[in-house]
Amino acid sequence: MTAILKNFIGGEWVDGSGITRNINPSNTNDVVGEYARADRAQTEKAIAAAKAAFPAWSRSTPQERYDALNKIATEILARREELGKLLAREEGKTLPEGIGEVARAGQIFAFFAGEALRLTGEKGSSVRPGIDVEITREGLGVVGLITPWNFPIAIPAWKIAPALCYGNTVVFKPAELVPGSGHALSEIIARSGLPAGVFNLVVGSGSVVGQTLLEHPDVSAISFTGSVSTGRKIAQACVLSTPMKKFQLEMGGKNPLVVLDDADLKVAVEVAVNGSYFSTGQRCTASSRLIVTAGIHDRFVEALTERMKGLVVDDALKSGVHVGPVVDQSQLDQDLRYLKIGQDEGAKLHWGGELLNREAPGFYMQPALFTGVTNAMRIAREEIFGPVAGVIKARDYEEALAIANDTEFGLAAGVCTSSLKYASHFKRNSEAGMVMVNLPTAGVDYHVPFGGRKGSSYGAREQGAYAREFYTTVKTAYTNPD
Ligand code: ADP
Repeated sequence: MTAILKNFIGGEWVDGSGITRNINPSNTNDVVGEYARADRAQTEKAIAAAKAAFPAWSRSTPQERYDALNKIATEILARREELGKLLAREEGKTLPEGIGEVARAGQIFAFFAGEALRLTGEKGSSVRPGIDVEITREGLGVVGLITPWNFPIAIPAWKIAPALCYGNTVVFKPAELVPGSGHALSEIIARSGLPAGVFNLVVGSGSVVGQTLLEHPDVSAISFTGSVSTGRKIAQACVLSTPMKKFQLEMGGKNPLVVLDDADLKVAVEVAVNGSYFSTGQRCTASSRLIVTAGIHDRFVEALTERMKGLVVDDALKSGVHVGPVVDQSQLDQDLRYLKIGQDEGAKLHWGGELLNREAPGFYMQPALFTGVTNAMRIAREEIFGPVAGVIKARDYEEALAIANDTEFGLAAGVCTSSLKYASHFKRNSEAGMVMVNLPTAGVDYHVPFGGRKGSSYGAREQGAYAREFYTTVKTAYTNPD
């Protein structure tokens, strides 16, 4: 066993007050690493360090920000294979998916390196003669970044990079379940030349480290990605704190993929397999409701089932694997619980759902497909967050669209069609933040906004230049030069 990996507070690597063990879901005998767990006092120290570093960092030049972010990007991209392996080992997505996610993290840092140089303000005329008006953007202060386990490097990257780019200082709390990638990223950030305290890492639980961030008056803003129930608690805490904190929440999805009679069947099947089952279905943008019109329904179900039979479910690090394990026992229990709930409600478990034994003990589950699902069933309304999708038969496009929008969520939505008319109508009328035509609901670009509507998201969009809406505050300055 290697040394316990430490927290990074005020420019120093420090021990914690307990240990978080990181277990490989493909092989539960494999301990990926041990991480020092921060407590309340250490979290407060990290906040104090970030607060002390803010005045200077908020006035740093675009060149200083560019240099640090670009250095981070360069190292991440150079080490994508090694870091991708660590990610696949701790989270269970396949090695190509892990490497892809690491590359994405590097690209995000590179993008925000450039954004640091592009931030400009506006100068306007006053309605009063002789007065100048300037509109500029400034960093918020200390931002607390709370991230989930399912994208252990990309989500931290798309919060940390814009936070630093726009002059904020950071206290980063990765998910306790998979702290390895967040820790590796923090090591890279630690040697990027940022002044002490600008970036801090605190590994620990939501109830201790997370809660401290939420309650502390010196934290100006919280960016959170995770479950709806935690998101709600975060919103409450941010509103109740004095002063109130700015907050941004990315939460669940129950994303529809509409397949119309005129769809290219091969494309629709690939889009469904990718969106529903890749990354073990553990993406907030996963397609869990496959809404299929009557004329193609039977052919689609048959072709999808055949395609699913060819999916290799095994150790995330083996080559040729399409679907890795579920992340841990409690997520697996949840997936299995929903398989039962679906059947009890009258849906047919058409294929898959079995637990699988592989060479090493792990959380292996055959991707599952329900048919005969109605949109009122719990499996069509609640986020399962596993390799489980259900087919809902719709009469026609209009009914499919209505079903797609009949959900409390609104993150991503997709349609497979060869008709420009339906594609255009769907893009216009889908009540989701991101709409895909002949593409999986999951899988997005990093230079454009990411986020949803309704119960999926709250606050400003993440990623791309839109990220500045959250990570900056606007100042309007009036000058009478006389
Ligand atoms: P997931 O199951 O996707 O990890 P959670 O909402 O449980 O979703 O967790 C997302 C992140 O929120 C994790 O980093 C977790 O530790 C943190 N968290 C959980 N509970 C709280 C809380 N009460 N306050 C602050 N952060 C929390």
